[in-house]
Amino acid sequence: MEHTSDASTGAGTFVSRRATGKLLATQGYVVGIEISGSGARQSVALADLSGKILYRVRRPLEYIPDTGTVLHLLDEMLTDVTSPERLLDGRILRVGISVGGLVDAPHGVVRTLYHAHGWDNFPLQDYFTEKLAVPCIIDNNANAAALAEKQQGAGVGERVMLYLGLGRGIGGALLINGKIYHGTTGTAGEIGHMVVKENGPKCSCGGFGHLEAVASAQSVVRTMIGLSVEYPETMKAIYRITDGRAERITAEQVFRLAAEGDTIASHIVDDVLKYLGNALANIVLLINPSMIILGGALAQAGELLVNPLYARIQELCPPATSQSLRVVQGRLGSDANLVGAVTLALQDL
Ligand SMILES: [Zn+2]
Repeated sequence: MEHTSDASTGAGTFVSRRATGKLLATQGYVVGIEISGSGARQSVALADLSGKILYRVRRPLEYIPDTGTVLHLLDEMLTDVTSPERLLDGRILRVGISVGGLVDAPHGVVRTLYHAHGWDNFPLQDYFTEKLAVPCIIDNNANAAALAEKQQGAGVGERVMLYLGLGRGIGGALLINGKIYHGTTGTAGEIGHMVVKENGPKCSCGGFGHLEAVASAQSVVRTMIGLSVEYPETMKAIYRITDGRAERITAEQVFRLAAEGDTIASHIVDDVLKYLGNALANIVLLINPSMIILGGALAQAGELLVNPLYARIQELCPPATSQSLRVVQGRLGSDANLVGAVTLALQDL
């Protein structure tokens, strides 16, 4: 937020403006950075000031990296993305970073990344601001993705909205009166760690029976692979739907097997719909949203997820609390977090 005055007065910049005060898309660039913490996704993108991504690099890792490894990797990617031949006649005006963990956005600090080491209380915003000599904005990846869906995806025009990223973990973001609600210490929306099942499976945070341990894409896949060992019919179905690569089964494929009538897949999907539906119904009662957007790998199940989930929420909530509610799949797909990082950078420009 402290960068707003600089951008609006033009102090220290050579950028010209239209009469509206808005910058032209050709008058510079922003950079978006995605950090997953699990190693699965590290992306850096160069975008123009309309948010169009011009160039991007992605460097997934097979292992869970420490802070030094991720920052070194990002250094290399940033050098590539911001090389002089890409910056035709402008400069980088702002950097946005979406982080897959607990982030204190107002203070620019990463509080913790459950999957990775060395991130506790890491001042990521200051680190990049100093390193790149450009204002940086960081936020949790679900908050960033929610912002992106609101600006250019499924949530355009929404004022009260819940975004849910159902991937390796579960991230949540609340949009209240058109703005991301961060809470007292920046962690609002962390619904992946709600307790939904007594004596349930272990969560990435160390707790038990959390929503993330039951309804994330990763938990769906893990449970399916684990249970199928004892059920030859299900194992056969998995081999068929994955073309023989059972270990690569996706959450979407588990939903498809359930729709085909596979007993084990149906059991897993029923659990997801039950516990995710309960959690969402409780949130609907609390914030009375007009839209719930589902993102992440589990959302690729599309109508197989959206329709029964909507029905369950309607069943659990009094009509007055959910009659205007829509439940939809996000439009930005697996790009949501990176587009979110670019959207963070473009805020207030
Ligand atoms: Zn947890």
